[in-house]
Amino acid sequence: MRYSALSIFLNGLRGNKGWGLAWRAPEPKSHYDVIIVGGGGHGLATAYYLAREFGITNVAVLEKGYIGGGNVGRNTTIIRSNYLLQGNNPFYELSMKLWEGLEQDFNYNAMVSQRGVLNLYHSDAQRDAYTRRGNAMMLHGVDAELLDREAVRAKLPFLDYDNARFPIQGGLLQKRGGTVRHDAVAWGYARGADMRGVDIIQHCEVTGIRRENGKVVGVDTTKGFIGCGKLALAAAGNSSRVAEMADIKLPLESHVLQAFVSEGLKPFIDCVVTFGAGHFYVSQSDKGGLVFGGDIDGYNSYAQRGNLSMVEHVAEAGKAMIPGISRVRVLRSWGGIMDMSMDGSPIIDRTHIDNLYLNAGWCYGGFKATPASGLCFAHLIARNTPHETARAFRLDRFARGYILDEKGQGAQPNLH
Ligand SMILES: Cc1cc2nc3c(=O)[nH]c(=O)nc-3n(C[C@H](O)[C@H](O)[C@H](O)COP(=O)(O)OP(=O)(O)OC[C@H]3O[C@@H](n4cnc5c(N)ncnc54)[C@H](O)[C@@H]3O)c2cc1C
Repeated sequence: MRYSALSIFLNGLRGNKGWGLAWRAPEPKSHYDVIIVGGGGHGLATAYYLAREFGITNVAVLEKGYIGGGNVGRNTTIIRSNYLLQGNNPFYELSMKLWEGLEQDFNYNAMVSQRGVLNLYHSDAQRDAYTRRGNAMMLHGVDAELLDREAVRAKLPFLDYDNARFPIQGGLLQKRGGTVRHDAVAWGYARGADMRGVDIIQHCEVTGIRRENGKVVGVDTTKGFIGCGKLALAAAGNSSRVAEMADIKLPLESHVLQAFVSEGLKPFIDCVVTFGAGHFYVSQSDKGGLVFGGDIDGYNSYAQRGNLSMVEHVAEAGKAMIPGISRVRVLRSWGGIMDMSMDGSPIIDRTHIDNLYLNAGWCYGGFKATPASGLCFAHLIARNTPHETARAFRLDRFARGYILDEKGQGAQPNLH
């Protein structure tokens, strides 16, 4: 069923009894051309584009939990393409362009809201760095605007401009950046892939990768053995664990990142704002809650919950940026597991095993990448060559010394 204004109207007349399930709940077949491990945004988008762009529909997405239960439903919903480096920028801009047409493309309301992303700067050195980033963006055809202090004040008068340690001098704005309802992205891709014949199998954990003569022949799962022609890993925070099943050690660390939502307030923040002097960022949801977060917790973990010291740090940084926030009550918080790579950039590549493909290392920036990641991973799986915008995301770049260190911070996950 296609969703449209007419279908809403007609179903309304019939007491809303005509809506079907958004996707099926099939039993796994004994063999698929492609199996994707991980039903997060990236796995589902890969399945969608495999079917839509490359006509490969004998595909299963195996998800150990439920659709939307991983990071795709836990992130703070920010999308942007304000990247500096040549290897990153065209890829994230491709993603932004895909976001701009996504809802029409997969016929689902994902609440794509290009409300703008503003990164504040607090010193001359930071202004120079943002000027360089903005120029690099414009050279790549991406929108960027450097705002001075008064322009930021006109937009966001409630920020603390005269904070003794971190006075606000201005900000770098990407107007086309914004937010997207995160779990709707998973649902939209799941529905779009299912409509094209992909089997989405929930509560099916992959527990082993079987190989014969140097090739993958299938996976052991909690629903039994399932054979495949090609195996694609998109397990985000669990990437190291899943790759280990094929004796591959990845250059990744798993860390917890937390998100917070406040009580509902009247609308007062109409864009995404990031604090340049510490790790804090905030936007306001359509229901009025402030959605905010900060840095990773800073120790390795596979737990989907965070600790109190980071709650304190986020609260401090939030208050330094918006003094009035101290009276706001937090309603909800949660954690997700981040697959932090050693240069802060992702991996979309083949492995040394012929028919085993890897999509990982998204750190805390993988939500915005979901459409491009799905398209580029599908391209790699279907054609065995990298998509032109994802050529830099090679697995062996650490060994070769071609790292893609967007922030120039070195191999320290908490600084990416
Ligand atoms: C608090 C927080 C805030 C964030 N904010 C942003 C943001 O504002 N903008 C942004 O761009 N990014 C953000 N991110 C990062 C982004 O959410 C992730 O990089 C991205 O979602 C990861 O890709 P995914 O959606 O495929 O992951 P997931 O949804 O985690 O999908 C991976 C799936 O693999 C499944 N899986 C794992 N092991 C197995 C197995 N053995 N068998 C079967 N299935 C398995 C998991 O259950 C999971 O569902 C944030 C993340 C967090 C946690």
